[in-house]
Amino acid sequence: MKQLRDALRDMLVRLREREAEIRYAASHDEVTKLGNRNALMQSVQALFDHGDACTLIGLRLNELADVNDTLGLEFGDSVLQGIARRLQSELPDAQLIARTGGGEFLALIPARHPDQVDTLARHLLDVIQSPLQINNSPFSIRATMVTMELPNDATSTNELRRRLNLTFERAEDQPEPVTRYRPGQDESHLRELQLTADLHSAIINGGLHMNYQPKLSTRTGELVQVEALVRWIHPELGFVSPEEFIFLAEQSGQIHNLTAHILERVAEDARAWAGQGINAGVAINLSAMDLTWPELTDHLTRAFANWHQGMERITLEVTESALMKDPEEAMATLNRLRALGMTLSVDDFGTGYSSLSQLRKLPVQELKIDKSFVLNLDTEPQDQLIVKSTIDMAHGLGLKVVAEGIENLAAWELLQQWRCDLAQGFYLSRPVAPDQLVETAQTLASRRQNLTQHLLEDHS
Ligand code: C2E
Ligand code: MG
Ligand code: MG
Repeated sequence: MKQLRDALRDMLVRLREREAEIRYAASHDEVTKLGNRNALMQSVQALFDHGDACTLIGLRLNELADVNDTLGLEFGDSVLQGIARRLQSELPDAQLIARTGGGEFLALIPARHPDQVDTLARHLLDVIQSPLQINNSPFSIRATMVTMELPNDATSTNELRRRLNLTFERAEDQPEPVTRYRPGQDESHLRELQLTADLHSAIINGGLHMNYQPKLSTRTGELVQVEALVRWIHPELGFVSPEEFIFLAEQSGQIHNLTAHILERVAEDARAWAGQGINAGVAINLSAMDLTWPELTDHLTRAFANWHQGMERITLEVTESALMKDPEEAMATLNRLRALGMTLSVDDFGTGYSSLSQLRKLPVQELKIDKSFVLNLDTEPQDQLIVKSTIDMAHGLGLKVVAEGIENLAAWELLQQWRCDLAQGFYLSRPVAPDQLVETAQTLASRRQNLTQHLLEDHS
């Protein structure tokens, strides 16, 4: 009987021990004996539940994977253990120190003033990066350090995780040794993620449309061409600027799909307005990345197979900075586009630090002066000087000149006087939907006399 009781008691003890082991393993990191991700998340949740404040310090060992690969896992483990010991001795008042991933450590310490946190974190980083003694040799490893204030910077564990990752990402391209979470950064990142995901379906499901902005001859006041400008009204977020989503399309590998889609839409719209008696050329913007896209010429040829006018009445606008990124590659593409007979224009001229002599070597026919030089043309003598001399020099090189951003009569008249070839701007017309183009063309025709009056007076 006693034997049975002893056996049962032993079993119970072993069971408790086993249970304790399991519980320990569930909340601890095997290698460093620090807390693990679970433990950290539980502590943070408890903090949020009680409304307590605390500071979180995050550390990532940037080269741990390389160390494991080249020096072996055992060596890597020794590094982790060394770092863990340092964290424990440097942060005696920490509520929890945890290893939460391969080379990632997080510590929760009592809330402090941001300046104190920064000083502490910098010191900690110095200690972490100073050489460790491993197998009797000194070894040091580089680390990234970030800090967050809870609950100011995050109010749920999900939010914390996301914002922490973003801060680590940002820390990688920062010269500062310690990076603090910047409020608002996450929201803009979320917006980017959403827009990037939704852009794909907008392209496929016809969520994008084109607007067209007239360009007038400054000499005759006639509507000569329209510039195609892409528009996206997002179902939840509303108007999204093309600059924003074109950048995201470039970042996410969707730019060629987008350009191909735009080319088709423009060709289709152009057929429709030609049928309504509008006799205008069209200008299309290309992204810098389109210049290195081998299928660009095929898409252009296909989209404009039934173009009703001379090919030179299709203008492709490429920004100056895109051309200057890799002038040789740009040259090859421009030559292929030129071979299609289309007109090539340098958009946003004046913002990309190129010289006219560099541009002269490229097979372009037109310069489009950036609106930043034109918006205040009537009041800024320096802009006047730049615009006038650019027009003169470009003409000297046999290039046509377009000015964008004409917002008032004074700017329009100056450009007429300086013999700029084409002008585009809100004063003449805003970009309009394709079905408004006929009405816009009629309005412009009725303003034509007024718009050219100044010239008639000059020449009389
Ligand atoms: P951009 O090619 O330089 O286009 C001219 C921009 O100036 C347009 O802005 C137009 O609405 C604006 N603008 C025209 N006149 C005035 C004016 O008098 N005052 C002011 N303040 N602004 C004026 P938008 O449509 O927002 O386009 C911005 C940029 O996005 C474009 O600059 C172009 O770089 C890019 N973009 C637009 N559509 C496309 C497209 O279909 N494909 C590509 N790759 N880029 C596009
Ligand atoms: Mg443009
Ligand atoms: Mg521009």
